[in-house]
Amino acid sequence: MYALRLESPKTFRQVELPQSSAPAIGEALVRVHRVGICGTDISAYLGKMPFVTYPRILGHELGVEVVAVGDDVTHVRPGDRCSVEPYIDDPTSYASRRGRPNCCERLQVLGVHTDGGMRPAFLVPARKLHVARTLSYEQLALVETLAIGCHAVSRSGLAGDETCLIIGAGPIGLATLEFAKLTGAKTIVVDLSQQRLDFCRRQMHVEHVLQPSDRLESQLREIIGGNLPEVVIDATGNPQSMSAAFNLIAHGGRLVFVGLTGEEVRFRHSAFHKREGTLLCSRNALPGDFVRIIGLIEAGQIDTQPWITHRCDLDDLPNAMPSYLQPDTGVVKAVVEL
Ligand SMILES: [Zn+2]
Repeated sequence: MYALRLESPKTFRQVELPQSSAPAIGEALVRVHRVGICGTDISAYLGKMPFVTYPRILGHELGVEVVAVGDDVTHVRPGDRCSVEPYIDDPTSYASRRGRPNCCERLQVLGVHTDGGMRPAFLVPARKLHVARTLSYEQLALVETLAIGCHAVSRSGLAGDETCLIIGAGPIGLATLEFAKLTGAKTIVVDLSQQRLDFCRRQMHVEHVLQPSDRLESQLREIIGGNLPEVVIDATGNPQSMSAAFNLIAHGGRLVFVGLTGEEVRFRHSAFHKREGTLLCSRNALPGDFVRIIGLIEAGQIDTQPWITHRCDLDDLPNAMPSYLQPDTGVVKAVVEL
C-alpha cells in the first residue's frame, strides 16, 4: 500500500507501508476516499506550521468508508460513510474530562502531530467517526473545515443582532462566515484578494466586503452606523493582521483568533483595556460540531456546492500543490481523490 508522505518542506515522496492490521478494541479500519487540502497542509508544505514534525503523511479532512471495526464498536459498521474528527485526544486528560477534547494537552491531530489520511487505509479510534447517511465522500471531507468555523463562531458567542467582522476569506474564514450567517448577524468580510471578496459577495451573499486599508476603521463605522463590530474573527494567521484586529472591536466586544501564527502578536494594552475586550482562541472543533454540520448539510442549510474548486488524485498532488498556494488561481478548496 502506497502513501504520499511529506519528507521535509516542499518534498513529497511515495512510500510503501505495510497493510493495516485488523482493528483492536475501540478501533475502526477505514478506507480513505477523499482528502481536503487546507491552510494547515499548505503551511506544513511550506515549513511554516508550528505543530508539524517531518516526515509526515498529511490529511485531516477526510471522507472515509468503514472497512472493519473492533469487537466492542457498535455506532459504526462496515460500509458506513463517515467524516473523521481528526483530533485524537487522551480521554483522561484535564481538558477532555471537561468536555474540551479539541484542546487536550496531549492532542495528536491526524496529519499534523501524527500520520493522516493520504494513504489508502488506516486505523482510527472508532469514537472519532461521524456517520452520514446521504452525504458524498467529498461533502464528508468538507465537514472538518466547516467545523473549524462552527467552533470559532460558538466561541465568539455571536448573537443575531450583532455584527461580525471576519478577517481573511480563505477556507477557514469562509467556514466561519457560514456559521456567522446562520446566527442572523450582519457580516462583513475583509481580505487582500479582490477575487476572494468577489467570491464572498457572489457565492456567499455577503453584502459588505472590504480590502484592508488605513480607512478600514472608518469604513466599518460607516457600515455599522457609527459603531465597530461586536465580534471580530481573525482567520488570517498573520501577526500584523492579528495585532491590528485589537483596534477593530466595539467597546465590550470579543476578538477570536481562529488563524494560527508561530510569531508574537503585539497590542497596546490601554486600547484593549478601555474596550474591556475579550480575547479568545478557537482551536479545532468539538465532536458535536461534526454532528451538527452533517445535519445542516443533510437539511440543505449549508450548500457545499461552491466550496470545491479543484480536484486531483494522490499521484498528482506533488505537482498540483504549488498551484494551490496562489490565491489568484481561485482555489477555495482542493480535494484529493483516492
Ligand atoms: Zn483543515
